[in-house]
Amino acid sequence: MSMMRSVLLAISENRWMRERGPRLWFVRRAARKFMPGEASDDMLRAAGELRPAGIDAVFTRLGENVTDAAEASAVTRHYLDVLDAIAAQGIRCEPSIKLTQLGLDLGKDQAYAHLRALAERSHATGNYLWIDMEQTSYVDVTLELTRRLKREFPRVGVCLQAYLYRAKDDLKVLIDEGIGVRLVKGAYKEPAELAYPKKADVDENFFALAVTMLEGLSRRNGFRPVFGTHDSALIVRIRAHAERAGLAARDVEVHMLYGIQRAEQGRLVNDGAIVRVLIAYGAYWFPWYMRRLAERPANVWFVLRSMFAG
Ligand SMILES: Cc1cc2nc3c(=O)[nH]c(=O)nc-3n(C[C@H](O)[C@H](O)[C@H](O)COP(=O)(O)OP(=O)(O)OC[C@H]3O[C@@H](n4cnc5c(N)ncnc54)[C@H](O)[C@@H]3O)c2cc1C
Repeated sequence: MSMMRSVLLAISENRWMRERGPRLWFVRRAARKFMPGEASDDMLRAAGELRPAGIDAVFTRLGENVTDAAEASAVTRHYLDVLDAIAAQGIRCEPSIKLTQLGLDLGKDQAYAHLRALAERSHATGNYLWIDMEQTSYVDVTLELTRRLKREFPRVGVCLQAYLYRAKDDLKVLIDEGIGVRLVKGAYKEPAELAYPKKADVDENFFALAVTMLEGLSRRNGFRPVFGTHDSALIVRIRAHAERAGLAARDVEVHMLYGIQRAEQGRLVNDGAIVRVLIAYGAYWFPWYMRRLAERPANVWFVLRSMFAG
């Protein structure tokens, strides 16, 4: 892991920086590149603007490690309201949530009650519920609660991180149970005992898992493979493999983050792939934004430049 990436990820988890970082005006300004705004209306507007380009959305209200039960309930109510607004406005936008935002650190029963309420509303409004994956200490419980949820609600998916050695085994279970999988490389700082330290190995594992996911389509049990990446070379490889396997272009579904690789998103849509863009919003954006900087340390120059931009 590069020194810059380690430093940025350490900052993302530092409590002192989490409180003070967002107050720095030049950080706020630079973060706008990845967020249309802090309010849910900003997200809904951005989702509506993507539609003419043939791109649907996924949304997440930023927040993690909520340790106040009242706040976890308020977050849940917020998501319920947004799910209703999406249904009322006819926008194609799927929720993606972090379990620690629903109070997982306070206990898994309460977090599951919130999660279940979201799945119920999401189901009632014809939507699909995604669950994010956080640090390795949360992987077991996230998969456990996802599997429990899937037994009651059909349209549920979870994020799987290709940097983890265990991803291959977890994927098998998820495919068997018809749970959607959004494969990503992984955004956190993890030890070499648990995660591939070298990027090239993560990329190779991503491709191997993608091949298994495309095979999983033949199960026709509701399994939904999604590739959450901006890596154009990897997407080309996956699409070529899908074509060789006789799959249609629209069997490859790619999710990217708002503000990254916009031209590539358009190209993929023109080529027949399904593309969704994950739009994040909310006031608690600092750790999330630091992880975006860590993914591409060149973004740090963007922050510095915005200090001097008029
Ligand atoms: C839809 C979606 C959902 C995600 N959900 C999770 C999750 O639940 N848990 C989790 O651990 N991780 C999640 N991630 C983050 C993921 O793990 C990676 O950290 C992130 O996607 C960067 O990896 P990459 O696949 O884009 O490939 P990389 O090899 O890192 O990047 C490939 C290319 O994409 C571009 N790029 C990548 N990142 C950036 C950036 N920040 N700014 C500008 N350009 C960039 C660059 O051109 C780069 O060369 C998610 C990512 C996406 C797209």
